[in-house]
Amino acid sequence: MNRKVNEKDPDIYRGQQPWGMPKDLVISKALDESENIWVPLGPDTWSRPLHLNTSLGYYVHILKVTRSGVLQRHRHSGPVHAYVIKGKWFYPEHDWVAEEGSYIFEPPGETHTLTVPEDCQEMITMFTVFGALMYVDPDGNSTGYDDVFTRIEKYREHFSKTDLGADYVKNFMR
Ligand code: FE
Repeated sequence: MNRKVNEKDPDIYRGQQPWGMPKDLVISKALDESENIWVPLGPDTWSRPLHLNTSLGYYVHILKVTRSGVLQRHRHSGPVHAYVIKGKWFYPEHDWVAEEGSYIFEPPGETHTLTVPEDCQEMITMFTVFGALMYVDPDGNSTGYDDVFTRIEKYREHFSKTDLGADYVKNFMR
């Protein structure tokens, strides 16, 4: 939704914004399903980009999964903030379950196995991921990684096959 800015508003800040400041980023329909915005990451797994920050090395996205079981196991080089919008998931390494409405902080250094329980048909979670997810087997051997740059490539590749075009990814980059 847009509103008209009233420059004569007595409460409006009248100073200048700093030179070199990046542009703000607003996504009004973060859960919009009408566009080709959900990028397939794997079987029954999609990611919708919200913010891809290349200078600070983090990305914000919404993960949607419509199957249960183990998704992947990863170690974090940086912190993660998560907010569960729908459904639930857990890490077998912990006794808690991330349920609808939960906020989760994942500390850098931690390794865990993202799992959707049997009784969950659809989980939707917003993740803010700093640094990299380093994918590992149960013994900790590296099997790959993801960071803001691999994600940008993945989104670009997907958008290039749609009406949105590869450069659509730039809308989310700061
Ligand atoms: Fe994690």
